[in-house]
Amino acid sequence: MQIKAGSWTHKLSSMSVFRQVTLMICVAVAGADLLTAFFYWYFEFDRLPLDIVLTTIIVLIVGYPLGFFFIGQNVKLREMALELDRLSKIDDLTGLFNRRTFFAEARRLVAEQVAARDQGAILFIDVDHFKAVNDDFGHATGDAVLKELGAIIRTVVGEAGIAARLGGEEFAVLLHGAEGRRAAEIAERVRRGVANCGRVIPGLERTTVTVSIGIASIRAGYDFEDALLRADHSLYAAKESGRDRVVREDERVAPA
Ligand code: GH3
Ligand code: MG
Ligand code: MG
Repeated sequence: MQIKAGSWTHKLSSMSVFRQVTLMICVAVAGADLLTAFFYWYFEFDRLPLDIVLTTIIVLIVGYPLGFFFIGQNVKLREMALELDRLSKIDDLTGLFNRRTFFAEARRLVAEQVAARDQGAILFIDVDHFKAVNDDFGHATGDAVLKELGAIIRTVVGEAGIAARLGGEEFAVLLHGAEGRRAAEIAERVRRGVANCGRVIPGLERTTVTVSIGIASIRAGYDFEDALLRADHSLYAAKESGRDRVVREDERVAPA
């Protein structure tokens, strides 16, 4: 949701809490006093029961609209804060987590869920020759590929983990209940999904976009950043051995 600059909500929210409360009290007192003066002038009465009824009516008349107004503002501000919070956590192109949130969530998941099950894995995913996709088909088509890749990762990973776009054409997934063969199966499904994605992107019908994926296992007590680095090494091995493939760290050929 958006709050227009110069609107009531915008002006009000930019005031200090003290000013907002003071404003509300001033409006309530002025409204109640004016209505009291009007009723006394109009009905010319000074009997106690009527005074009590009158005071109650005035407080209701003044209090309700004021309450609705201020609580309405409060609700709008809370919705805006929630939306801002959501936007600060996601990558706007793919809807996946952004790098900062992924790191924070991954550290937490490694500490809690991976520690509880003693198994997990990290996938490091990179689009192959993505620069050429941009150069040959345009930046907008490149963006469409990234968006589609984000959707494929989200669908394939589902509840098995969390996923993020780390930046550019690089993505990462933390699987919190799978490692080894299961993690490789998930990575393979992402790889195959991408190989078919050209069919749904206008202009790419005759081209095959591929990804390389590196996998590292992660267990209780492991350091998340270290595992991500190992996954990156596996990704490098996948690139070096021809791209369009999944490489697990235990399949990597150790450097001579
Ligand atoms: P490799 O197979 O070795 O990974 O080669 P590559 O071309 O994929 O890698 P390289 O790092 O040379 O190029 C990455 C390209 O990604 C360059 C940059 O213009 C492009 N890129 C980064 N962010 C975005 C984005 O948000 N949208 C689009 N369309 N392109 C992006
Ligand atoms: Mg690339
Ligand atoms: Mg890259």
